[in-house]
Parts: sequence; structure tokens; C-alpha cells
Amino acid sequence: MNRNDLCYNHPFVTSTVSSHSGSPNIPASLEKLRLDGYLSSKNIAHASNDFGNIYHHMPSAVLYPKSVSDISSTIKHIFDMGSTSDLTVAARGHAHSLQGQAQAHQGVVINMESLKQEMYFHKGEFPYVDVSGGELWINILHESLKHGLAPKSWTDYLYLTVGGTLSNAGVSGQAFRHGPQINNVYRLEVVTGRGELITCSESQNADLFYGVLGGLGQFGIITRARISLEPAPLMVKWIRVLYSDFSTFTKDQEHLISSEDTFDYIEGLVIKNRTGLLNNWRSSFNPKDPVQASQFNSDGKTLFCLEIVKYFDPEETAKKIDRLLSDLSYIQSTLFLSEVSYAEFLDRVHTSELKLREKGLWDVHHPWLNLQIPKSRIHEFAEIVFGKFLTDSSTGPILIYPVNKSKWNNKTSMVTPDEEIFYLVAFLSSAIPYSTGKDGLGHILNQNKRIVDFCETALLGVKQYVPHYTTQEEWQTHFGPQWDVFVRRKSQYDPFAILAPGQRIFQKAR
Ligand code: FAD
Repeated sequence: MNRNDLCYNHPFVTSTVSSHSGSPNIPASLEKLRLDGYLSSKNIAHASNDFGNIYHHMPSAVLYPKSVSDISSTIKHIFDMGSTSDLTVAARGHAHSLQGQAQAHQGVVINMESLKQEMYFHKGEFPYVDVSGGELWINILHESLKHGLAPKSWTDYLYLTVGGTLSNAGVSGQAFRHGPQINNVYRLEVVTGRGELITCSESQNADLFYGVLGGLGQFGIITRARISLEPAPLMVKWIRVLYSDFSTFTKDQEHLISSEDTFDYIEGLVIKNRTGLLNNWRSSFNPKDPVQASQFNSDGKTLFCLEIVKYFDPEETAKKIDRLLSDLSYIQSTLFLSEVSYAEFLDRVHTSELKLREKGLWDVHHPWLNLQIPKSRIHEFAEIVFGKFLTDSSTGPILIYPVNKSKWNNKTSMVTPDEEIFYLVAFLSSAIPYSTGKDGLGHILNQNKRIVDFCETALLGVKQYVPHYTTQEEWQTHFGPQWDVFVRRKSQYDPFAILAPGQRIFQKAR
């Protein structure tokens, strides 16, 4: 089965998915624009792929900008053509989208990583760093550590760009305390769908600022961002403990996120019917007792793994960890503890990426599903989905951890469930190429659909994270009461629907 068979044959993948045969429709006037970088229509097939490796939309050209004005003049030019042109523009960060969100069918893809801008560090009471919208978080980590500083809120994986994660939310085990990455930004520079470069913050052009944060790339392209920093720890204690009872597990997770005197990172994993607990793509965890860990056998049961981290302070960490752990009710024999540098911990998924790349298992199909589930319905969800739908967790990690809604700024475009505590649940599956079995793309997509259908039918009040819908009605339901503001902002900042067509929220009118 080739890539296009997969695109067309599965019911999830709509007929709008095109093959790699797009015809160039770039107007000559665009090619004549004076740019510091360049526009190319050759060797651009990479821009029709992403990490999901399921959707493939061929653009007509890729812009490799060297300056912000390359981006603004390109968009302004397309804007000025108005409804006489159907050209769209997609910013492409690190293309770690899952369903073509950073692609533009026969449009222009902007390769944001080409926009090199120096990082500017400000120290003092409220330290921050100014970075390019196309900067990778891994580079920000390494540069800020040189100043003894680091961003407060992260994603689990750092080979993602600032513009890409700020267009969603950017969540990881620090979000319970600091909120998502979109809560830790002081200022943005944005090129709107009219081609205007606008600086925005809480106090300046606030409507655009909040619209762009979590705005799925709909209102503007982030060219620069001011990210809040904190003093960086040097080392971390990284701990995993296991539970066999879901209620005890979630009770402990909720207890931990409700206090200020707690761990610095709190996540969790579902493990079903598998041996070799550490034998997955988050296996960079290096326990004190590797033999015990590798011999661990879940014996057909569903287990829940609490993953917690304490930033290391040699003076008091050991005593404090003992005290914090003494409040928890995990299976006592399953305490796995590791000590690594802060940078090594934050870059943990990359370690696994390198191992998977070696085996040719990184560039496969990734039918991921990310959900946000209200606390009041998480037990029902777990009973049906983990208890009945899932037979094992061998296609990839399943993350589960609670966060506090009060830490999320509700003025941004990001939508969350309507409860103070909600759970992030991520099914991070990899499909084995050509498999028609349980680890094949078709089976995993069907399983995802079953989960989504169940959430809808049972009216669980679930919201997707890194959402993917194919009709405007579904988007309207996703945004709920925020839909009207979203539509108003679109007509204000990108009236011809030029930007981020791969999200399939609005269609460019001709
Ligand atoms: P892209 O895929 O390039 O773009 C995503 C969307 O943002 C597109 O619509 C694009 O047009 C738009 N966009 C890109 N750049 C800009 C810009 N400068 N201005 C405006 N719009 C822009 N998410 C989490 O929150 N937490 C995690 O722990 C996490 N881990 C992940 C691990 C892996 C291995 C992968 C593949 C994804 C993970 N994600 C996680 C999801 C990830 O945050 C999003 O998919 C994100 O969009 C990827 O960033 P990117 O730079 O690759 O964006």
C-alpha cells in the first residue's frame, strides 16, 4: 500500500487530501517581489508532509524568508490580489503537526526556521528572552541555560517551534503550576493576513495578542515572541511509581497539583497488558534499578504510572521528596528513581527519537489523538476506554495528567473543558508500515474514532487538543461560545482566509 492509498482509503481522511501532483499557480508578480530570502517551487515535496505522515498537500512554492519583511510583503501581495486569487499561505514551523495543519494545497508554505533572528536576553526581576517565531525550543533551552535561566512551561518534546506550539497551547508536566506556554508570553510580533506587522501584548493590541495565542495560525504569523523565564535548576530527581487502581492514581495526581508545595513536573501514563515497562519511546528514563524495571510485568493488568520530577536542590531535595512521597498511595515496590541534568530531562523524548530513527521507526504514520477531559467524567472515560476499548498500550505511550483551568488564561483562543480541573489524555500511536493488524494505521484510526464517538455520545464535555476537524460545524461545536469571537477576529485580521488553510476552519473565498 502506498502513501496515497492510505490517504484516500480511510474514512477519516477526506477527499480533499491531494497527492503530490499539485500544479504551480504562483503569479509571476509574486515571483518578482524583492526578497532578502527566496521563493522556490523546486524540491518542495517535503512541505507536503508532516509528523503525522497521513495528509499530503503539495504547495506551489516555499518561501525561505531571511527577514520579517519577506513574510509581510509576500502576504501583503497576496492580500492585495483580494478575491481574484485563491492563493493561501501556511507558516511551517517544524511540521510536527499531525493532519496537514502546516500545509497549503497549491499555496505558499513559509519555512519559518529560515527566519534567523538573534535571541535577546533580559535579566532582572522578570527575565525574558525575545526569540524568532521559527526558533526551536531546544535552542532556546541551550541558550537560556548559558544565562542560568530557562522558560517555565514546556512541551515534552523540544524540536518544535515557538510559533507552532504558541498556535496551540504548549503543554507538559509544568502546566499545572505555570499554565501552558501561551500563558508565559509577554509580547508577540505578528504579520496578519493583511500583511501588516503588528506588535501586541496584554496592553497593546490585546485582541490580536490573545487571538493569536492558541489561534491555530488563523490570525497572523508569529515572527517574534517574548518568553518569560525563571532561574534554571541544574539537576532533577525523576521518579516513576505505579498504581493498579485508577481512583487512587487520580486522587494522588489531583492532590499533587492542588498544592504549591509539590513536585515541579507531574504527568502520568497508562500501561496496559505489556512487559518491559520501560520499553517504549519515552525509555530515556534511566531507573536506579534497571533490572527490576526491565523485569517488571504488568501481567495483563492495566497499570497507571505517575511520573514526577523535583528540581534538584542538594540541600533539601532528598528529605522533601521523602515527605512528598509519603503522602502517596502507590504500590510500594514500584518506586523507580533517577537523577539527571535538567537539560537531559527536558530533552528526554529526543533520546528516544534517535533510537527510533536508527530502527527506521520515527518517520512512520502517527495517528495521534489528544483530548482534554473534565475531571468529573474521567472515571467514566477510563472505565470504557482503558477498560474496554484498549487491549494493550503497545502502539505508543498513553499520557494522562490533570491541570488546573485557573492557570490557563481564558482570554486566549485556546478552548478547554468547562471545569476547574481537567485531564490531558494523549494517545501517541505509531503505526507499523504496511501492517493490517492492531498496530496498522487503519486499526488505530478506527480506534481513535471509536474513542471520539464515545466521548460525543456520552456527552463527556471533551475538547480535542491540537484539534482536527473537517467541517465548519465541528469547529463551531469545538469553540462553543468562543466561536463568534473567533469568526470576528478572522474577518478582522485575515478577511480573505489566506492563513493556515491546513486547519480547515475557513475556506478562502473567490
Ligand atoms: P507546525 O506543525 O509547523 O505548525 C502547526 C500549526 O501552527 C500550523 O497550522 C502552522 O501553520 C501554524 N504555525 C507554525 N508556525 C507558526 C507561526 N510562526 N505563526 C503562526 N502560526 C504558525 N504539544 C504539546 O503541547 N505538548 C507536548 O508535549 C507535545 N509533544 C509533541 C511531541 C511530538 C513528537 C510531536 C510530533 C508533537 C508534539 N506536540 C506537543 C504537538 C505540537 O505542539 C504541535 O503539533 C505543534 O504545532 C508543533 O509545532 P511545529 O513547530 O512543528 O508546528
